[in-house]
Amino acid sequence: MRIAIVGAGIAGLVTAAGIQADGHEVAVFERRDEPNPVGAGLTLFNNAFAALDLLGLGDSIRQISRDGIVSGAIAAMRPTRNGPKVSWLLSVPSSATATMRSVHRVALHRELMAQLAPGTVRTGSAALVAADGTPQVTASGRTEQFDLVVVADGLRSRNREILGLDTGLRYAGYTAWRGVTEQPVSFAVQPGEIWGRGQVFGMVPLPDARVYWYATRNTAEGQRVDNEYELVREEFSGWHETVQECIAVTAPDAVMRHDIYDLAKPLTSFVRGRTVLLGDAAHAMTPNLGQGAGQGIEDAATLTCLLRDAGGRMLRDASGEALDAALAKYSQLRQKRTSSVLRRSRSAGLMAQAEHPAAVGFRNALTRLMPPQVMSAMTQRLQQWPKPEL
Ligand SMILES: Cc1cc2nc3c(=O)[nH]c(=O)nc-3n(C[C@H](O)[C@H](O)[C@H](O)COP(=O)(O)OP(=O)(O)OC[C@H]3O[C@@H](n4cnc5c(N)ncnc54)[C@H](O)[C@@H]3O)c2cc1C
Repeated sequence: MRIAIVGAGIAGLVTAAGIQADGHEVAVFERRDEPNPVGAGLTLFNNAFAALDLLGLGDSIRQISRDGIVSGAIAAMRPTRNGPKVSWLLSVPSSATATMRSVHRVALHRELMAQLAPGTVRTGSAALVAADGTPQVTASGRTEQFDLVVVADGLRSRNREILGLDTGLRYAGYTAWRGVTEQPVSFAVQPGEIWGRGQVFGMVPLPDARVYWYATRNTAEGQRVDNEYELVREEFSGWHETVQECIAVTAPDAVMRHDIYDLAKPLTSFVRGRTVLLGDAAHAMTPNLGQGAGQGIEDAATLTCLLRDAGGRMLRDASGEALDAALAKYSQLRQKRTSSVLRRSRSAGLMAQAEHPAAVGFRNALTRLMPPQVMSAMTQRLQQWPKPEL
């Protein structure tokens, strides 16, 4: 089949690599002149790697990522007269986090691009789809026909709106800064996530021993200052020395800020005619479970699987019932899985970003009391990709 993919983010590129390897003819439309990943880190769990393995991409991504360093530990930060004190609330047993890996987004993007045949990605091509789901793409004033169109144009997907599938976005109530240190950091606390009042700081060592960090703060939507680096430094100035070291050894112009949004409500369908939604365009979620990209990778593997016949060969009949059935099944499976992760991610965000002293006290007590086995079971369940049965 001839398949168009709109958007060369992680979800679009993994899909392109998967279906191209199966023998389909693929064109990726990317509006930017250069596919331009955010210069930060990413954590990927076992579910993402199960999906990448199915697409034949697992080993190459393992080579550029690092395991055994994401602790799954959560601590609470509280100021005391003798300085900031970090007390451990929870440490997820390593059996549940052993398969988590960290990767630099730029390295991931480069690796995915390298998997594609030359000329697959058409940069500088903002693409719009047909409202009724007819498999066509209009870019640079030209409309091209395909057998299937995959929309992977991200959180603010214009094409989701065009298809009439949009439920709007919800501001989560907090903003996030991200950075990568220029050198390794001497960890005086275990890498993991530290919760304060309406603030979170997370640290993830990368394969080259630099540290990817993220910091959040409850605030009104759309606030910006000239020097975000200074702001994040001030916001976390009373925090643990390792937090301050992470910020200190990051280049000021490498700190990025994004307000956090998710879909106001899960979509009721990921498919219109012969056009399907995938990645953040289909299920943008808050980053609290570190599953946004992972879910996009699961989408890619699910769709690739369903575009195969019972013998595991690619579907060739672009007009028949088999394709309609595959798309309906894709929508059903992925809606079910991603709406549950979206909701859980939102709840995790509410908990981590608690600000009122009573809510913070309650949250810390509750987290401290949670048996590690329960947390472990929840983490492991999240990491199970429901691979489609053909
Ligand atoms: C602070 C933060 C931390 C996160 N941490 C993690 C994590 O640890 N693990 C994890 O799994 N996820 C994480 N995520 C989520 C993850 O970043 C996203 O889920 C993922 O990057 C989405 O990929 P995507 O390909 O769907 O969309 P995008 O990366 O947004 O890509 C969409 C692409 O489409 C292009 N595009 C847009 N419109 C058009 C058009 N009309 N025509 C052509 N091209 C178009 C864009 O230029 C872009 O290249 C985090 C998110 C945030 C905000």
